[in-house]
Amino acid sequence: MIYPTARAIALGLLCAPTAALLLGPSPAPVCRASPRAASAALRMAEGFTSKEELLLVDEVDRSGVEVDATRESVTAVDTSLVNAVKWTPSARGEPGKTPRDLAFGPIKAYCADLKEVKRRPTRTVECGPIKFGSEHRLVRQTMATTLTSDVEGTIEQVIRCADEGFDLVRVTVVGMKDAIACKKIREGLDARGYNIPLAADMHFAPKVALAVADAVEKIRINPGNFVDGRKTFETMVYETDEDYFKERAFFVEAFTPLVKKCKELNRCMRIGTNHGSLSARVLSFYGDTPRGMVESAIEFADICRSLDFHNFVFSMKASNPLVMVQAYRLLAAEMDRLGWDYPLHLGVTEAGEGEDGRMKSAIGIGALLADGLGDTIRVSLTEDPEFEYAPCNRLAEIADAKLLPSALATQRAVPPYVDIRDITSFARRSGRLPAQKEGDTFDYRGLLNRDGSVLSAVTAKELREPNTLYNALGCKTVVGLPFKDIATSDTLMLREPPALDDEIARRTLKRLMDVAVLPVVPADALAKAPIEGAVALMSLDEAASGAKKPACASRVVLSVRGDESAELMNKIKGIEHAFVLLDPPPTLSRLHAARRLFSLFGALNIDSAVIHHFRPVPSDSSELALQMGTEVGGLLVDGLGDGVLVEPQTPGSFELSMLRTVSFGLLQGSRMRSVKTEFVSCPSCGRTLFNLQEVTAQISERTGHLPGVTVAIMGCIVNGPGEMADADFGYVGGAPGKVDLYVGKEVVRRGVDNEVACDQLIELIKEYGMWKDPEEKEAMEAVA
Ligand code: SF4
Repeated sequence: MIYPTARAIALGLLCAPTAALLLGPSPAPVCRASPRAASAALRMAEGFTSKEELLLVDEVDRSGVEVDATRESVTAVDTSLVNAVKWTPSARGEPGKTPRDLAFGPIKAYCADLKEVKRRPTRTVECGPIKFGSEHRLVRQTMATTLTSDVEGTIEQVIRCADEGFDLVRVTVVGMKDAIACKKIREGLDARGYNIPLAADMHFAPKVALAVADAVEKIRINPGNFVDGRKTFETMVYETDEDYFKERAFFVEAFTPLVKKCKELNRCMRIGTNHGSLSARVLSFYGDTPRGMVESAIEFADICRSLDFHNFVFSMKASNPLVMVQAYRLLAAEMDRLGWDYPLHLGVTEAGEGEDGRMKSAIGIGALLADGLGDTIRVSLTEDPEFEYAPCNRLAEIADAKLLPSALATQRAVPPYVDIRDITSFARRSGRLPAQKEGDTFDYRGLLNRDGSVLSAVTAKELREPNTLYNALGCKTVVGLPFKDIATSDTLMLREPPALDDEIARRTLKRLMDVAVLPVVPADALAKAPIEGAVALMSLDEAASGAKKPACASRVVLSVRGDESAELMNKIKGIEHAFVLLDPPPTLSRLHAARRLFSLFGALNIDSAVIHHFRPVPSDSSELALQMGTEVGGLLVDGLGDGVLVEPQTPGSFELSMLRTVSFGLLQGSRMRSVKTEFVSCPSCGRTLFNLQEVTAQISERTGHLPGVTVAIMGCIVNGPGEMADADFGYVGGAPGKVDLYVGKEVVRRGVDNEVACDQLIELIKEYGMWKDPEEKEAMEAVA
């Protein structure tokens, strides 16, 4: 099952369009209000004011600046402004016959080359001393967490970021006070010899954006709330495209002065759409979809282009890496057919902290970079910005390495294939699961989990330390005996079976097999030291040429490289096997070999489950998360694969428990299998209303044991409650010292004191039946 859970959907915690996006393709959108807009309409009709609306009004009020345009003002807008914009034809309607299809033809490629990694060709966009685009190195950027009005503190933090290696730092700009501070920050940095460009992060306040353009090199605007702020369009129902397009006057009027100023001063702009903060207008028309994200950005780009301003980049961020990847690909494909060549800023929003944050970023950013998309990246972590540099830089280095001649040779070594992926919809390929047979001594259904499997490589030596091993495999233990738990490795890879007289190791193995944690052992090794009921590992070559599994083996797992001929692959259908292990040699590009394998499997109607066999070189957990996120996560975002086996190239170079937890992190980050609470926490910035790192640590500590539950921890509500698109519960800064608690996207407790907010969050989780008490760790007992 695809995460988010059916329970969340059943509870109404997930809006229908998001559910539709994640659970499968849906029919073409129709002109009707989104569930959110409809519910807001109902509230308004009943005389209630939407809580989100109130919060957003607060936000704008705090900026001290009036929003320039109101919906009422639309009627007064000079329509010549709107008419002067050369709008991109609509992409809505019957596929293949939309106005855009008729004008530009169908969507084709989303990247420069599907078979080889090439940077997507872009124009050069200038941002002070740095340049974005395919002719330039990937730009590494971050965001300050200081209050922008704290000029000295911000200067110090920007300098630390610059010294770390960042090329650009973004700062929050809430109101005029921050705009003025930006001028001083720029001057202070220049005075200290730092010409690192600054980007102002703008929401809601066009006049402030106009003011700050004097001081900084780049302005980030969010099409979702630059003027709309969601408060004026909540109740709109658009029956026709014309109705929808009429509303453009609203933001053309507000955005045009900023574009003109950026052009005049040669400032750079980012048109930065966020999945969670689409305007109510876009939500009403397109729903909570990648298509809505793309079209929202295209409208703002149309204004820029009509004013002959081209010094801008796009971003399509989401906290869900699958949505994020789909949105960027769709935008790139749309740009391709429109003949546009603007660079891309990549990022996963609210990725969180630690390995999970790195993993989610690697899955989203790494997947896109691996196809040559992206010109600047930001890894958003709930950590100090300086700590973002290492993962940001490594993802860029990993991407650069794919462009080297040696990497190119591995891509070209993959035999020809037809790439059949559909970038406009997500559908996970679920392989056939192993079944139980009459007379089986062990439960072979436990070999794989339908939501995604984790396999762990163990040694005979580790089997001689049962307590340590059970713990590392994530087993529960009762009176010294292991039991499968929610995050227990599903299956073992055992290269060397224990000697026949190694009683302790064999007893440990038997106890694991009794609870369906079964070993996969190379067939030749198994023949020499039989393990009754084990699973024999054979290469497809061997099995297809008639080799038999050892007598002790009950099942076979087939290992494939990914470059086998179609004829050989087709033989898989005639060989009884539990699943396929995809283990490309270093001479083959994993990404391309795997895509070929799944294309072939599709064409040949092979329904085997496929486990990615990943063999890392020695490193640490962060590097492992970045490598796995890019290499394997880049396939899982396309729904390709049923799990992962991590087997270090140098045995013993990683801790077994760490490999297991990073593997589960990969599945959770890829929205496959949830084994712990999912945290969506913002990286914090100058708007943050509480100590995000401390609070995140506290909430993780107390609620981290709730698989299937998503908790959003957000420093403020600037991007709107939609920022917590996938979250079941939200802990959001409402005012200094005060927190608002959400269930789904509805605020249910306002102004809760910081000190008691975590307790109240737990109460809420209990109230909604999603709480369970943390289990006491079983006392480990010696079994030897
Ligand atoms: S949600 Fe977090 S990062 Fe985003 S604007 Fe608010 S405090 Fe800043």
